[in-house]
Amino acid sequence: MIRNIPCRICGESKNFFNLIAATGNRGVPFISKEHKVALCQNCGVCFLNPQHEDGDYKKYYEWHDRPVDRKVSPKGFRPGTRGEYDRLRLDFFTKILKDKNARILDIGSGYGRFLKSLEERGYRNLHGLEPNREAVKVAEENYGYKFYNAGLGDASLPEKEFDAATLIAVIEHFTDPVKALRDMYKLLRPGGYLYVNTPNLEDVVLRQGINKYFKFVHTFYFTEKSLKNALKKAGFEIAGSYTLPADRRFSNLLCPENYSNSELNIIAKRPLKDGAALEIEKEDWKKIRDKVRSIWRKDKYYALTGRLLSIWRHRKFIGYPAILLKKKLCSKKPLTDFEIPETTG
Ligand SMILES: [Zn+2]
Repeated sequence: MIRNIPCRICGESKNFFNLIAATGNRGVPFISKEHKVALCQNCGVCFLNPQHEDGDYKKYYEWHDRPVDRKVSPKGFRPGTRGEYDRLRLDFFTKILKDKNARILDIGSGYGRFLKSLEERGYRNLHGLEPNREAVKVAEENYGYKFYNAGLGDASLPEKEFDAATLIAVIEHFTDPVKALRDMYKLLRPGGYLYVNTPNLEDVVLRQGINKYFKFVHTFYFTEKSLKNALKKAGFEIAGSYTLPADRRFSNLLCPENYSNSELNIIAKRPLKDGAALEIEKEDWKKIRDKVRSIWRKDKYYALTGRLLSIWRHRKFIGYPAILLKKKLCSKKPLTDFEIPETTG
């Protein structure tokens, strides 16, 4: 089911600016193909509105995250990850969390990849939280960490247990990020840290067109300010922030702005004493509107040049029609894993 939602950061229910429309649902029949991206005119956060309910997303992830669909190498790593970015993220995190015996929980731990990189940095007390049963199974087979096969807010999770929690490329997937952050808050001991990593809306990805970034799995789009607002609203203090630059290795003459987007990295802290939520700092929504629109205007051109360059890069001139044909045939593969509910979108 698709429904209108209020702004999860400031509670605004009607003053939204319709920023752009994105398309695509990866061939999943119960997910709408059209997505409207709204900007809150009060606090400036950007999100899909209307938006699918949690139940639809849960079904989608169960379908999508089967190990059979992922090229998981024996160690649980997905090939092609950006190692340099991983290193910079870890540098930032280890600067703040110096205690190598700290109890760390990786939220949305998937196949355990980020936990493994923490282990390589010397951390010894590692735990994962992952709702996908199959992913937990693979991760447990590969690593000795303790995994909770549960979702956030699950009653079986221990409270005030962890010295730190990490949230790598996860927060942009929640339908209510503030509620999710409040659930994370409960898991941390007073004084515990939460490390949040997410793409930066102020530097949106153009590599393969705007529909690659504004898509149904990304429910919220943050700037540094709006992410800090969400954290403050959930009761956190801000301990540090670091914006990773865009990766311009994809850039070239045909496509000068064709690069992978930059990343926000924020470390928040559960205060020693629970207090009132901190005042949020409103984002200038017009500034965000103009920025995204200027990219949007160039999107068709970049989508085309980006595609041409990617064909060249992979030397698939001859193979390209075959890839298109395969794509067409694969998208017709029936989904039989679960019942497909009615949608209104
Ligand atoms: Zn708002």
